[in-house]
Amino acid sequence: MQDLLIRNIRPMGAEAQDILIRAGRIAAIGKGLAAEGATVEDGAGAIAIPTLADTHTHLDKTTWGMPWYPGRKGGSLQDLIDNERNSRIPLGLDVHRQSMRHAIQLVENGTGHIRSHVDIDTDHGLSLLEGKLATRTALADAVDMQIVAFPQSGLMKRPGTYELMDEALAMGADVVGGLDPSSMDRDPKGSLDAIFRLAEKHGKPIDIHLHEYGELGAFTLEEIIARTHALGMQGLVGVSHCFCLGMPDPLRVGPLMEEVAKADIRIFTTGHPSAEVPSLQDMRAAGIRVGLGCDGIRDTWGPWGQPDMLHRARIVGMKNRMRRDDELELLLDAASRGGVEAMGLEAPGLVPGGSGDLTLVAGETLAHAVVEEAPRPLVVKRGRVVARAGRIALPGVVMP
Ligand SMILES: [Zn+2]
Repeated sequence: MQDLLIRNIRPMGAEAQDILIRAGRIAAIGKGLAAEGATVEDGAGAIAIPTLADTHTHLDKTTWGMPWYPGRKGGSLQDLIDNERNSRIPLGLDVHRQSMRHAIQLVENGTGHIRSHVDIDTDHGLSLLEGKLATRTALADAVDMQIVAFPQSGLMKRPGTYELMDEALAMGADVVGGLDPSSMDRDPKGSLDAIFRLAEKHGKPIDIHLHEYGELGAFTLEEIIARTHALGMQGLVGVSHCFCLGMPDPLRVGPLMEEVAKADIRIFTTGHPSAEVPSLQDMRAAGIRVGLGCDGIRDTWGPWGQPDMLHRARIVGMKNRMRRDDELELLLDAASRGGVEAMGLEAPGLVPGGSGDLTLVAGETLAHAVVEEAPRPLVVKRGRVVARAGRIALPGVVMP
């Protein structure tokens, strides 16, 4: 592969320099770099940051580019789940096409890593996973994708789901998902034992959606922490949302966060506007590795969201009452390098030897770049330009 030399960029907002990427990794950062035969790009003085990471999304759910969906429901979590499961086939929601639309836009907006859940249920079997695996293959040069086998309709309450999860993990899903072991499955011991059994059998990490509030959520979280230690799975367990860490009781939440950090459990937060969410600043101060995610975008659940991690970072920033530049820099780190680390991958940032994944962003400083709404001028994956001026620029990849 040809070397890539990007001239006149400001790594992490520093003064203008050049970056040389060779064989997919950063070979040098400095002024006046030269490399014979390299492809040369002019960064025009833009800030360079590591590519963004959407660590919690659902590429199999979006209706983006389809006719407007007027059938969204209110009601309970169960109502929303049932509405989606019953709507997919009548709507003609083709998971490969829709996940391509969603993922390509994330790439165009500077995303280099995606962790996406995919529904595994007894109505659809493994068909949704198949569509998403095809998307991962089609976009392999543009984005690294982890797929979570996710029992959206329940694991214990729908017999046959465990066996499908087992097959999904054998077929190429990377992570064992779960959903509210207490409030959804009504069987925290059975549900968590099943999730950890699948993880042990397949040697794969775990990422559990935990919407349970307050003491119920704290109880489930303590059970997750206990199993993480008992099975030596520190660093391999993630909890998404974890609203219970957002409960307004610092004497309860502080020690819980310390326990989460000790078990090296990763937290994936979306800054959910209609829930109490854990404080990003407090989690990072406790030493917890945190990723941010857009969650579902314009799906049967809700009309909101954009496939853009900077858009999501603004929501998380507002939710966490962030104002100061140092807070916005922390936010940007969680939306990029920190999220990749939370996904269990190496993430040293823009340093020699690090991966050649970077995106240019508009703005005078890192803090300004978070709030500025503008296309990403250039997105680079493993030393290859994959998007330019907010449009995919990878041969053979077209928006369906
Ligand atoms: Zn989710």
